Amino acid sequence: MIPVNTPLLAGNEAKYLQECIDTSWISSEGPFVKRFEKEFAAYNNRKYGVAVANGSGALDIAVRALGLPEGSEVILPTFTIISPAASLIYSGLKPVLVDSKPDSWNMDVDQIEAKITSKTKAIIVVHIYGLPVEMDKILELAEKYDLKIIEDAAEMHGQEYNGQRCGSFGDISIFSFYPNKHITTGEGGMIVTDDDHLLERCQSLRNLCFKKEQRYVHDELGWNYRMTNLQAALGVAQLENIDKHIEKKREIGRAYNEYLKPIQHKIQLPLANTEYAENIYWVYGLMTESTAQRDALIGELRKQKIGTRTFFWCMHEQPVFKKMGLFENESYPNAEKLARNGFYIPAGLGIEPDQIKTVADTLIKAVNEHI
Ligand SMILES: *Cc1c(COP(=O)(O)O)cnc(C)c1O
Repeated sequence: MIPVNTPLLAGNEAKYLQECIDTSWISSEGPFVKRFEKEFAAYNNRKYGVAVANGSGALDIAVRALGLPEGSEVILPTFTIISPAASLIYSGLKPVLVDSKPDSWNMDVDQIEAKITSKTKAIIVVHIYGLPVEMDKILELAEKYDLKIIEDAAEMHGQEYNGQRCGSFGDISIFSFYPNKHITTGEGGMIVTDDDHLLERCQSLRNLCFKKEQRYVHDELGWNYRMTNLQAALGVAQLENIDKHIEKKREIGRAYNEYLKPIQHKIQLPLANTEYAENIYWVYGLMTESTAQRDALIGELRKQKIGTRTFFWCMHEQPVFKKMGLFENESYPNAEKLARNGFYIPAGLGIEPDQIKTVADTLIKAVNEHI
């Protein structure tokens, strides 16, 4: 079996975990948490990091921390994981969607301005699958309409947009450390910001909003989204190798690009570069012309014990949001095509070169049979 993802735990992970056990520091009060926050913030050229239990929780906190008036509209791509839209709903905000670009699979920044109303207060930028969103246009709109930027850089550790770190663009930015991200803590996430006030808000929201002067008294509801010392120990070890991880992901991507050249007229490969970035291949995504083609390929790979995963499902087609009366009669053709025809193949950090070759050979054979 070649699973769709295997993490790489080849550094000081075991040593630092042992340290947690030897010192009995396993809760969020342990010293690795602060160390991980400090080192990860510095890596991203941010002043502050707030470590949390997962990336979705990081988004819940980031959105809430901005304190936008209830009913405010926030623009985000329809093609993404559900977490950013869910965070908006939890905070009484209204998600407003834009379509994706067919080449980079990122939000189409040219569709944003037409969606801005007097109620629009923020944009959630979600960098998708390894390439960043075109930030120049976002920054220009944020300035022109006085909008906050929440940056979901969950898939974008170490990526740069025109030489500037992804995760350093938002008023507030978040990362995830799920095992398929470029560095992992098992489950985990981090909020980064340069703003003292937002730092304090995030720290409070992650810890149930205990009143400073009086524990167990609350003026506001928060969450228990604390990260444990065990998770942070993994994080510190992974961060030591982050540049190697990114290079390895790029090597995996380049290897597939090379192997799959013979079928690139039949199936869309990920863009290797844009004007502003080189792909870091969070996943190695592929697009067919039809759902039937995609499902046939997935079936053939499964027969050979090769794992795949279909792309995200659009926000405007989520049953849960339809039930809430959201996004009625809206359609976003590029994103719908991605959701219906896209899938990704094994490209995790733990994959071996011979496995990459096996996946590529099997895929080429399947494509030539079915397309
Ligand atoms: C992985 C991911 C998240 C959520 O992170 P979790 O740690 O799994 O909660 C959020 N946004 C994007 C774009 C992601 O890829």
